[in-house]
Parts: sequence; structure tokens; C-alpha cells
Amino acid sequence: MKSFSTNAQKDNCLMPFREISIKSNGDIVLCCYDITGKFILGNIEEISLKSLWNSSKYQDIRKNMLNKHIDNLPITCKGCRIFTNERLIKA
Ligand code: SF4
Repeated sequence: MKSFSTNAQKDNCLMPFREISIKSNGDIVLCCYDITGKFILGNIEEISLKSLWNSSKYQDIRKNMLNKHIDNLPITCKGCRIFTNERLIKA
């Protein structure tokens, strides 16, 4: 199994790099913390998981996370406790 021992693991949230969350209505959200569906990436009936996973939308989120461009991240990430723990802010 491939290890995720990268800077992303050390300083960032790994959710957009390793998993995807699908709500019961088919809406796809960034992670399981978004229980109210504040940031919907798509719907499973409209796009394949593979297409969404490799989409520019998802890639941009990953790049912004790696580059710590917090202002460009989804609203769910800005209010996430991952940030209040300063895992992204401290580099
Ligand atoms: S909301 Fe939090 S846990 Fe979910 S992807 Fe954003 S930073 Fe990670």
C-alpha cells in the first residue's frame, strides 16, 4: 500500500487526497464534516466519481490546500477545526 508520508500529511488535511463523501441524496461533498452539504461538488447521478476525483475543481482544492491559500478554499474548510488547530496556518 502506498504511504502518504508527504508534506500534505504533515501540514494539511488529507481528506481531499484520500476520500470522498456522498450524501444519501447523491450529493458529493468534500468530506464527512460537511454534514449539511454547504459545499457540494456534484451529484453521483450527474458525474462519475472518477471524473469528479480528477476534475479541475477537485485539483484546485488540493492545490489551494497544499499552497495554504486558505481564502480560496471551500467555506467548510475555512470553518473547520483542522484550521483552528493551525495545521494549515503553521508551516
Ligand atoms: S472541511 Fe476540514 S476535514 Fe473537511 S476537507 Fe476541509 S479541512 Fe479537511
